[in-house]
Amino acid sequence: MSRVTTTPNAVSRHAAGTLAWAQASVTFQVALVLVTAALVLWALFFSNYPLVHDTFHELRHSLYFVPCH
Ligand SMILES: [Zn+2]
Repeated sequence: MSRVTTTPNAVSRHAAGTLAWAQASVTFQVALVLVTAALVLWALFFSNYPLVHDTFHELRHSLYFVPCH
């Protein structure tokens, strides 16, 4: 028989802390995905860097809503 050294209250606090950390982690991951997606879309449609601009120039014009020139 092993003896339980933690009280139920400590277990409950640990579970609550773990859940809060997991929720914060998911929030951070969602924010990271949204920021990355926004950066990629901005780079595709609004960047003036010649290599990116020239590569996606036809795509920009095919969408009609991205002012290019
Ligand atoms: Zn153009």
